Amino acid sequence: MSDAEREIVNADGECTHMFFSRELSIFNAMEPIVSDLFEDHYVKTGILACDCEKCQMDIILLALNHIPPHYTSSQTGEAYIKALYQEPQLQSDVLRELTKAVQVIKISPRHS
Ligand SMILES: [Zn+2]
Repeated sequence: MSDAEREIVNADGECTHMFFSRELSIFNAMEPIVSDLFEDHYVKTGILACDCEKCQMDIILLALNHIPPHYTSSQTGEAYIKALYQEPQLQSDVLRELTKAVQVIKISPRHS
């Protein structure tokens, strides 16, 4: 067993490694949802203190780090995201975190 293989065997000696084809990747469904809501509610409305790329990216990253991820595969992704997006509770959770992130970056922007 190589070192790389050893790392993915968990404490019970069970191999947790999974294999995926090139077409089937894993991603967090919250990424497009957060970006979309950010775009609609903050970028298009022009209410950001600074809308440079760095600030926009920082706001999205900050919000995403406070929102539980919803992982999905690229294959089932689209339908799953659409269903998630319709949930009013999820939208309000995302907007709450985005609002907080916008405030944080407004007070301490990291752009140069
Ligand atoms: Zn900026």
